[in-house]
Amino acid sequence: MSAKIISGTETAKAIREELKIEVAELTEKHGVVPGLVTILVGEYPASQSYVTAKNKTAHALGIHSEQVTLDADTPEEELLALVDKYNKDDKINGILVQLPLPKHIDEAKVLYAIDPKKDVDGFHPVNIGKMVLGEECFLPCTPHGILELLMRSGVETSGAEVVIVGRSNIVGKPMANLMLQKRDAGNATITLCHTRTKDIDFHLKRADIIIAAVGVANMISADQVKEGVVVIDVGVNRVGKAANGKAILAGDVDFDSVKEKAAAITPVPGGVGPMTITMLMKNTVQAARQANGL
Ligand code: NAP
Repeated sequence: MSAKIISGTETAKAIREELKIEVAELTEKHGVVPGLVTILVGEYPASQSYVTAKNKTAHALGIHSEQVTLDADTPEEELLALVDKYNKDDKINGILVQLPLPKHIDEAKVLYAIDPKKDVDGFHPVNIGKMVLGEECFLPCTPHGILELLMRSGVETSGAEVVIVGRSNIVGKPMANLMLQKRDAGNATITLCHTRTKDIDFHLKRADIIIAAVGVANMISADQVKEGVVVIDVGVNRVGKAANGKAILAGDVDFDSVKEKAAAITPVPGGVGPMTITMLMKNTVQAARQANGL
């Protein structure tokens, strides 16, 4: 058996088409142009390409987007003042501060300074708290994208044994929370694994759905999973450089072997990645609606 490939590229494209129509309608009927600002501090290469991709996507959807790049040695107060400026700017509905920040800046302090109504990354404690309570809020983009992928691929999560590997604040923990909510793509039984988990193989082997967010290339192989499992691979690992200078990427799951055993699997690249940016756009449009009482 060879797995169904869950294409994030295709799903993201479909959602972006929906968003494009929604943005056009907001603009034409209500005079509302959703606005997003991305703030980058320093020159971390991966961050630069993420921010560029986010702005490009926003632009393609008709979202007003601004990009601010600050020097790596920008003082924390200056960044906080900039966040405050955008908190008060009516043209801007979403503020994204690209992580990681340079070491001299307190990341939490900056994220907490963003108005929760403009926190389109879903990292503010107000939004995280609401998410845990199952209230409406901005969901963190990567787990949100995974929920959409599962729903749109028709994966049954209700009652499923879901094993998530990785407990970061941006992927593993919110993912676990969302999938145990009484909601679409939820109602699952969750096991959350990490470096202190005693026997990861035991958990992986009985999983109906595996979500890998570890950051270790090809860590999960076919002999660790059961026949018919659904695999969502969040990992993005640079494993080499192609002749054209582009990075060669691998997921946390050994795609070639696992796809022969799984019922469905996301590729890397072209899986979760495109969904993350798309959910940022979805959150920005939601923020614009809310700011205008629509
Ligand atoms: P992170 O903050 O580094 O967390 C990694 C998690 O994996 C930690 O909880 C760690 O456990 C666990 N872990 C590491 N090695 C392990 C092992 N050998 N066995 C079991 N658990 C292990 O990573 P992250 O930010 O969540 O990102 C994870 C991966 O997803 C990275 O490759 C990242 O690039 C990718 N990512 C992709 C997207 C996307 O849009 N496609 C978005 C975000 C992240 P401890 O907590 O015990 O240390």
